[in-house]
Amino acid sequence: MRLILLGPPGAGKGTQAQRLVEKYGIPQLSTGDMLRAAVQAGTEVGKRAKAVMDAGELVSDAIVNAIVAERIDQPDCARGFILDGYPRTLVQADAVESMLSDRGISLDTVIELVVDDRALVGRIVKRAEDAKAAGLPVRKDDNPAVFEERLREYYKKTAPLTGYYYAKGRLRTVDGMASIDAVTAEIEAVLAAAARAR
Ligand code: AMP
Repeated sequence: MRLILLGPPGAGKGTQAQRLVEKYGIPQLSTGDMLRAAVQAGTEVGKRAKAVMDAGELVSDAIVNAIVAERIDQPDCARGFILDGYPRTLVQADAVESMLSDRGISLDTVIELVVDDRALVGRIVKRAEDAKAAGLPVRKDDNPAVFEERLREYYKKTAPLTGYYYAKGRLRTVDGMASIDAVTAEIEAVLAAAARAR
């Protein structure tokens, strides 16, 4: 199964992806996690991405596309994967199409988690508080000021992807305001319907 999870920052993509990893045994490919690992490791990519990420802006398409192209060739992706936080621009969406067609594979479904904007900033603040309480590192971009920029980037560059995938007949929407369990159940129902339609 090859799946894209779309939605603004704080929509719950990461949380839901984790659950799908457990249920379907396929990896979650989070470009945010990969970039944070690169920053942590001090790689060339990490050095170039750090300031951009801290400001809540998007890292260049070229960098992100290269990371994903390399990642999907790893053996654990052979049975499928969940793209979380990627693609985030129309250029990246086109890159996904060619990456997959070059490998003779295709996407199954694109699921958009639809969430009320007003709920998002509260979720981000809570994520930072929970991380702190658990003694985990707090993301530098999980604060209200940077969050506003992340949301602006989302509307400017990522929101057009819903039209892109709708036009291809691939978009399915799920109410991301429901409880975590209810969202998981709805996603699973969408995936089951997609499997029946294949
Ligand atoms: P996330 O963990 O998905 O919220 O991503 C955190 C940050 O990493 C974003 O605000 C961007 O700076 C960067 N990032 C993650 N994924 C992408 C992507 N697909 N394209 C560009 N930048 C990205």
